[in-house]
Amino acid sequence: MKKLIVLTAGIMLLANACNNTPKTSGLDLSDLDTTANPAADFYQYACGGWMANNPMKPEFSRYGSFDKLGEENVKQVNSLIMDLAAAQNDAGSVADKIATLYNVGMDSTTLNQQGAAPLKPFLQEIAALNGKQAIRAAITKMHKQGVNPFFGVFSEADFSNSSMNIAWLYQTGLNLGDRDYYLEQDARSKELREKYVLMLTNMFRLSNYDVMANSTPEKLAAAVMAVETAMAKGFMNRHDLRDPYKMFNKKEVAALNTLIPEFDFSAYFAALNLPGVDSLNVAQPEYIKTVNAILKTTRPEDIKAYLAWNVIRAAAPYLSDDFVNENFNFYGKALSGRQELQPRWKRVVNTVNGALGEAVGQIYVAKYFPPQSKENMLHLVANLQTALGERIQAATWMDGSTKAKAMDKLNAFRVKIGYPDKWRDYSGLEVKADSYLANIMRSNEFDVAYNLAKINKPTDVTEWFMTPQTVNAYYNPTTNEICFPAGILQPPFYYADADNAVNYGAIGVVIGHEMTHGFDDQGRQYDQQGNLKDWWQPADAENFKNRSQVLVDYFNKIEVAPGVHADGKFTLGENIADNGGVQIAFQAMENALAKGEVNKTAMDNFTAEQRFFLAYARVWAGNIRDEEILSRTKTDPHSLGKWRTNGTLPHIEAFIKAFNVQPGDAMYLPADQQASIW
Ligand SMILES: [Zn+2]
Repeated sequence: MKKLIVLTAGIMLLANACNNTPKTSGLDLSDLDTTANPAADFYQYACGGWMANNPMKPEFSRYGSFDKLGEENVKQVNSLIMDLAAAQNDAGSVADKIATLYNVGMDSTTLNQQGAAPLKPFLQEIAALNGKQAIRAAITKMHKQGVNPFFGVFSEADFSNSSMNIAWLYQTGLNLGDRDYYLEQDARSKELREKYVLMLTNMFRLSNYDVMANSTPEKLAAAVMAVETAMAKGFMNRHDLRDPYKMFNKKEVAALNTLIPEFDFSAYFAALNLPGVDSLNVAQPEYIKTVNAILKTTRPEDIKAYLAWNVIRAAAPYLSDDFVNENFNFYGKALSGRQELQPRWKRVVNTVNGALGEAVGQIYVAKYFPPQSKENMLHLVANLQTALGERIQAATWMDGSTKAKAMDKLNAFRVKIGYPDKWRDYSGLEVKADSYLANIMRSNEFDVAYNLAKINKPTDVTEWFMTPQTVNAYYNPTTNEICFPAGILQPPFYYADADNAVNYGAIGVVIGHEMTHGFDDQGRQYDQQGNLKDWWQPADAENFKNRSQVLVDYFNKIEVAPGVHADGKFTLGENIADNGGVQIAFQAMENALAKGEVNKTAMDNFTAEQRFFLAYARVWAGNIRDEEILSRTKTDPHSLGKWRTNGTLPHIEAFIKAFNVQPGDAMYLPADQQASIW
């Protein structure tokens, strides 16, 4: 449950570029829709051609630049894995583990013959539970297997001493998705609840749990819905989850036990092989009281139905086609609007990437990541860091002491590029040909043990929280680090052979975006060591809030679907980061222009400034389904691609100038209404 601030929700992979042509603009004019007016709808102008040329595909809920690269990358990772699968590997080697897991996942004949059988022992154990003590022990055992009904325990930095990891108790286990879906009375929420109950019913029947529990699928489904609805009422909402002070409540285990007398945490930590844990952070104490009430008043057979469902849900993607399809009908179709399941090989590649991510990553970077890219990135990051420093110094709304602290934090950034210096050891993970599900459960246990082993130990600042093949980037506030995996260092983010205007507009903004997270509404609350500590002069903090509120109000007014508005407060951190990212990268480009590192003359009839903004927009090109728009508006702290472009750029005076946007144009905002923070 690591709280990283990432560039985009959803982990994706991407392709390597082999571009040996002489220096170009890096633009592809076919991405544009020149019939659109850039001052009216810049997104359509910059990306309309791309969207027409890359229509939505049945297996996607959103198909954008990111997803297209992800498609190509999955093919590359697949070919790496296929090479291993075809080779003679030493038994127990990492190559052997990758190949075995892949082969087991691809063997649909065996999976369909096995049906619900791999799940049976787990469910029989739950059906046989007798009494509260047995139920508590079962919950603990599930947590060790990476299945987290009710809550979960994870290692995470101590916000008051970020050099140490401590145990964090965190709300988990709402399987319908966002808490709103259980509680709201609009037509879509009601329809989702109906479809969810139908899926639960089908899943209990498919798994035979109804027979084991001597009940009916309908009754079991209703019981699960009742338990999860009670949980949803106590769940911390998405706004409070963004407030680190609300989330940071260190307690002795004894004090936690008084919040939840129905669950003995001393026994719990002993069973997790963590007998030394006598204090921890309780992220949502009110919710823990809700769990206590549920454990106290709910019939044991209903709790057991909820536990059984958690196991079935975790297992469904790794079982026979009937489970996979049932799972997809709800989570793929109903929630996201996907029309087709991904082909098996893609699903299996993603699973192998999840279970053995750094092992695959090590092979990936050896084949696809040119060392020169790391050098180039270090140069770009240094230029962005300089530009942000200049902007902090020039800010008119902060006084000198706050600026000095901000500069200290900026100068203390840890920068990670490409891949980790040391690789994770997978020798403790057993992979064998028994069943796909058994392998997934062992992999989960391996990951949980790895995570829990960090509790009450010093933070390892060399650790990576994304694999190298990931197309994404992150800022982690407690280590004050920015990380750019190899996967993102490629077109349309980074062009090794193009003029740098597009690189500043794309990967430059990504770098600036992640840096700005250190100073957004959440990140600014941590100091240069990553401790939650207020380093702001009160008047400067007030100015920050007022300047941020401009973005909250602006995004609240954006209608993302008929009658549905963006959530300006929920997306504030990302919108600040997009705003700051564009400003910082633009300034870095101006510095580079002055040094002759960017072509001053027009290329493809666009000025350097125009190429910068076209490259920025292109990163967010994409088609998206209505269901996915609604889903992301509740669950994704990032604005939708269209609004990362059309909502962000009116606040950027350099954009207004570059495209000669005039009062009255949709992309126009007068300077005194623009958000100006970093
Ligand atoms: Zn971000």
